Amino acid sequence: MDFKPPTAAERLKAIGSTEGLEEILRKTLEPADDFESIPTPQPGDWLAVHYEPGQTFDEFIKSKPNRPDKTRKKIYLQPLGEFPKGQITLTEALKEYAGAYFAMPVEVLPTLSLSDKNITTRINNYTKNRQILTTDVLTILKDNLPADAFCLLAITMEDLYPEPSWNFVFGQASLIERVGVYSFARYDPAFYGDKREKDYEKLILRRSCKVLVHETGHMFGLQHCIFFRCVMNGSNHLKESDSRPLYLCPVCLHKLHHSVGFDVTIRYKNLYRFYQKVGFDNDSRWLAHRLDFILGPTASRTILEQKNEQ
Ligand SMILES: [Zn+2]
Ligand SMILES: [Zn+2]
Repeated sequence: MDFKPPTAAERLKAIGSTEGLEEILRKTLEPADDFESIPTPQPGDWLAVHYEPGQTFDEFIKSKPNRPDKTRKKIYLQPLGEFPKGQITLTEALKEYAGAYFAMPVEVLPTLSLSDKNITTRINNYTKNRQILTTDVLTILKDNLPADAFCLLAITMEDLYPEPSWNFVFGQASLIERVGVYSFARYDPAFYGDKREKDYEKLILRRSCKVLVHETGHMFGLQHCIFFRCVMNGSNHLKESDSRPLYLCPVCLHKLHHSVGFDVTIRYKNLYRFYQKVGFDNDSRWLAHRLDFILGPTASRTILEQKNEQ
């Protein structure tokens, strides 16, 4: 692959026209110095091995993506198997994060047990870890899709495989049927036999948050981003996904805003609160800087000191 990062003009064009938008939203979609171009891929990186045509805002609109509406208005999370009980309750944190990120109600369903007779598992020959067959999970999700669901996403700390001949898979989804299943197992250093550092829970939480919003982004019809550094960038290995930011670039934020129609200031404020609470210091600093640009430092300070709201 011979991917060349887009020029500044191409990046701006991908954001789409901001004419006629409210002043705050227009400013929110201005990159200023808060968004960097996607870097030139290194050997082994996603864009070095995968051809991505990219998807501008205008192309996104033309693709007629799934959008939440009066009926399909909730994001459902389906825990699959047990989650470790640590200082951070991962499912609760992910619920709060997804709610702030997508500005939509999020509900966590009762845990689906691995002893469910419809779920096939195996022990992986190489890792000796238990794995779950993704297609079984997708079938269960399709059969149980709540009427008011925009999407239903199973999340698990167990490893996954999509068919017997495969070694493993990080996740699998059906965008048309609005269901998906994603594993966080390989985001835990212990999976590879590596030492868990002192703040490993925070590391797993941040990686899981990133996977969840990236994959949920796909549910909204957002394709991989090839314009800026962005949570919607594809990634081919852990180092690359760790280097991806948690935020949506202006192209992808414009898309999500078009679908959901949130108040951008409230959304950023709720995300800021979450980052502060869980100790994602770099992410909260970035957001405060961004809000300074959008609202000016005084208004930004006032907003960030207020309490949460939906
Ligand atoms: Zn993706
Ligand atoms: Zn993007």
